[in-house]
Amino acid sequence: MSATLDLDGLQSKLKGMEGVAHVETIDFLCHRHSRDRVSEAIRSEGLDRLVIGACSPLLYLKEFEEAAGKSGLMPSMVEMANLREQCSWVHKDKKASSKKAEDMVSMAVAKVGMARPNNDGTRAKVKDEACSGCGVCQATCRVNAIKMVDIPGKPGHRLATINPSVCEGCGACVAACPSAAMDQARFSNAEVVAEIDSLTPRLDSETEKFPNIMVFACHWCSYAAADKAGIMRLQMPPDFRVIRTMCSARIDPEWVMRALSRGADGVLILAGKPGRCHYEVGSIRTNRRMSLLNVVIKQLGFDENRFRTIYVDSDEPESFRKSVDDFVRTIKDIGPNPMRIPEPEEPQTVPLQFGTISEAQMRARSLL
Ligand code: SF4
Ligand code: SF4
Repeated sequence: MSATLDLDGLQSKLKGMEGVAHVETIDFLCHRHSRDRVSEAIRSEGLDRLVIGACSPLLYLKEFEEAAGKSGLMPSMVEMANLREQCSWVHKDKKASSKKAEDMVSMAVAKVGMARPNNDGTRAKVKDEACSGCGVCQATCRVNAIKMVDIPGKPGHRLATINPSVCEGCGACVAACPSAAMDQARFSNAEVVAEIDSLTPRLDSETEKFPNIMVFACHWCSYAAADKAGIMRLQMPPDFRVIRTMCSARIDPEWVMRALSRGADGVLILAGKPGRCHYEVGSIRTNRRMSLLNVVIKQLGFDENRFRTIYVDSDEPESFRKSVDDFVRTIKDIGPNPMRIPEPEEPQTVPLQFGTISEAQMRARSLL
């Protein structure tokens, strides 16, 4: 990776990063002896979370979770930044790919910082006190993992309960719950929001790097396609950062709105193809939900081209490359998101499609 990444520079930047207690570069990290070194570092440094910057989590996340487990860390406290397939193998510009690598590790640090110790895989959970008993989650779950149960002493009131041995951990029900009464282990709202915020650190300066593009990719389909694109060394512009979810149906429209209202120049959702989605109907739900979101985004005055949903299957690395390429080009044509321009002290008259900038910001934020 050092051919296209400034690893020394990255290491010294990470050493000064908030929340980071220890940074170490280890060769051949997937080798058993190297993983033992990881376990040892957790013990000797007293670490309570671990971020591995290496290859794809689809390849070795389990092994690193085991290494962390030997030193007492739960699997949920381990995160990987895919610096190989999604960075060093697909970008040749060393300066740009090094910046991207820094962003990717920052995202992972932000995400794992919000993690809570558990061994729940990626299963959904219900916050009983917030559940209204509406049953939307039950209707969403394709494997019937959710049952509505009566609450003793409260006739007519029901509560959603999840059978953990049936739940596949797709997260579709979590995004569907109208009461925000659900969450998903490993992809909790707090964890993903931390990633989004890490990528949009108050993009209120005209000097901030343009374009800042967020790509949501689903674990089994488009993220796997990205890995294959990396293995094939398909070159892409280094202007995008990927947020992984298990299924595209986990993607909450509020996340898209949050990214755009914080100044991201574009948000791209890459979902598995209908009929080939790992969770069968997940990407159909995504498409339905995001079509509605497109209307909202337009009503808020954003250029509708800042947000796009495309189907990419796991065996379509070229399609991943092309989707990202086309989207980056589109965003470069549109220009920076007006939300990144500094908010004026006095209401002012920079003309947008819907009035002043401060008005635009307020209207977007009121939706969050
Ligand atoms: S969708 Fe949410 S509020 Fe409705 S039953 Fe399920 S957990 Fe409860
Ligand atoms: S996460 Fe997926 S499989 Fe699990 S209960 Fe929710 S919809 Fe069903």
